[in-house]
Amino acid sequence: MTAVLVDSHCHIPMIEEPAGVAAILANARDNSVGHMLCVSVEEADYPVLRQLAADHDCLSASIGIHPNTETAAESQVRDLVRQADYPGVVAIGETGLDYYRSRGDLDWQRDRFRTHIRAAREINMPLIIHCREAKEDVLDILRQEQAADVGGVMHCFVEDLETAQRAMDLNFLISFSGIVTFKNAVELQEVARVLPLERILVETDSPYLAPVPFRGKPNQPAYVRYVAEFIAALRDTGLEQIAAATTLNYQRLFGEVNI
Ligand SMILES: [Zn+2]
Ligand SMILES: [Zn+2]
Repeated sequence: MTAVLVDSHCHIPMIEEPAGVAAILANARDNSVGHMLCVSVEEADYPVLRQLAADHDCLSASIGIHPNTETAAESQVRDLVRQADYPGVVAIGETGLDYYRSRGDLDWQRDRFRTHIRAAREINMPLIIHCREAKEDVLDILRQEQAADVGGVMHCFVEDLETAQRAMDLNFLISFSGIVTFKNAVELQEVARVLPLERILVETDSPYLAPVPFRGKPNQPAYVRYVAEFIAALRDTGLEQIAAATTLNYQRLFGEVNI
């Protein structure tokens, strides 16, 4: 294969690989995965991910606090802006809303989400959006905070076609994870089949959500190839075409990468 894949969302420090990051990256390379975006979920990730991006040309980093992460104090816009001002940092997130794992009064989650969007707008960086059982509020807040000015990605998308369309109207790409390969994901497979090729990305969200045939096992960026292959089959096209399109889409959103 000549076209190279990008894993638009992974958590490399969480992957348990005895042979370390070098082995994860070598396996990715062997599967034509040429670049990976390492996504932050808590403050402790920031120096780790920035260092990974500094050490490896094939890695980029994001800055942000996941909606389910418990913190002693909420980050302010200026904190996020300062933390993102490093080479190799290309996005703000993952941020968004998760009404599945967090319960009760979630004003704090919505406030945190707004703060991330404001930071992204201030430094003109795209957003990585996590959305679980909260699509209406996510879309409302994206609109209210004018997130379309910076755009971004709806990561690990599992919603319906109408939601995908509304997110695309707000200047967001739609990223598919291993979930799209699961047998019961019939509706999601239809979304992946019909979306415009220039609006989709692929990801692993590793170490979670390994695609078939590794479902239930630890995931790694190399396996984004199986996500892309599955989508290629759904769309009756080749892996080559999906790789070329999603890699181009990635670079349009997050900037050029060396691959
Ligand atoms: Zn997520
Ligand atoms: Zn994630």
